[in-house]
Amino acid sequence: MTGAPDGRIRLTVLGGFLGAGKSTWLRHQLHEGALQGAHVIVNEIADTPVDQVMLRGSSALSLLAGGCACCAALGRLVALLRELADRRVSGLRVERIVLETSGLADPAPIVAAIRDDPVLAHHILVSDVIVTVDALHGLEQLASEPLGRAQVQLADRLVITKIDAADMAQLCPMLATLRTLNPTAAMSGAVHGSPVALPDFAGVAPLALPTEGAAAVQPVAAVKLAVGGDIDWTALTLWLSALLHARGDAVLRVKGVIRTPAGRLLLQGVRHTVQSPEILLENGDGAGEDDALVLIGRGFSQRTLQRSLRAFAGQA
Ligand SMILES: [Zn+2]
Repeated sequence: MTGAPDGRIRLTVLGGFLGAGKSTWLRHQLHEGALQGAHVIVNEIADTPVDQVMLRGSSALSLLAGGCACCAALGRLVALLRELADRRVSGLRVERIVLETSGLADPAPIVAAIRDDPVLAHHILVSDVIVTVDALHGLEQLASEPLGRAQVQLADRLVITKIDAADMAQLCPMLATLRTLNPTAAMSGAVHGSPVALPDFAGVAPLALPTEGAAAVQPVAAVKLAVGGDIDWTALTLWLSALLHARGDAVLRVKGVIRTPAGRLLLQGVRHTVQSPEILLENGDGAGEDDALVLIGRGFSQRTLQRSLRAFAGQA
């Protein structure tokens, strides 16, 4: 397993609501060798020790207990990640880290803390946010828990667990609701950690979700902006930073793949921060979304944003 093409350690954040099957899924991936060589960090809010035997498939395991990694234990998480980055500087192989958050964690502050820390930003790239959703209780959680919705909105990949136990009449509306909350995440099903196909939910109505104050009155939508291959990279970055400063609360996520003379660049942002761009390997992930920027959020229109980008970056 190798790190990011630019040499940084790849970090996967694994989140999901309480009981959403994170540990089962992770244990299975480790057992199958899918995350070989990964250093696993397990975050437990309680002080109870994690069953380390169940994570035998990982080459290394750190336990972050007695606080949630997105808030109370965020400082300790940053210290631990700095230590892992240091180990690498002194020659030890750490190419990949998987952080299993507690069920009460919002991945956004974790991702932001890594990007805002100069040492961590230099050594660690948050490569993906994977969120598990329980096929049995997910729909109910999405309806009642703002945190459950926040987790889903930040995911690059949604893994729907316990598919075998789900009733299709519940599962399809849940999938449609997840798609509404996060129009671009990859979605897959799992039973005891093994991948299974999801049913077709085209045409199924999503659940009408409760609104969260004035800001949430408008629905979350994905807006796709065309970015020509000849765009001025600096101008694009400036435009995006300005947008996130002004409208960071409205923009939940930014993702795009842009061809530049240096190669295909993956640009990602969460709320107020933009991650430093990653050079993608040819034929790697992100295929099919070249030269486009996808913004997920509320209260902006495709036309206005495209016009603003054009004015700023001088695009025809
Ligand atoms: Zn927290």
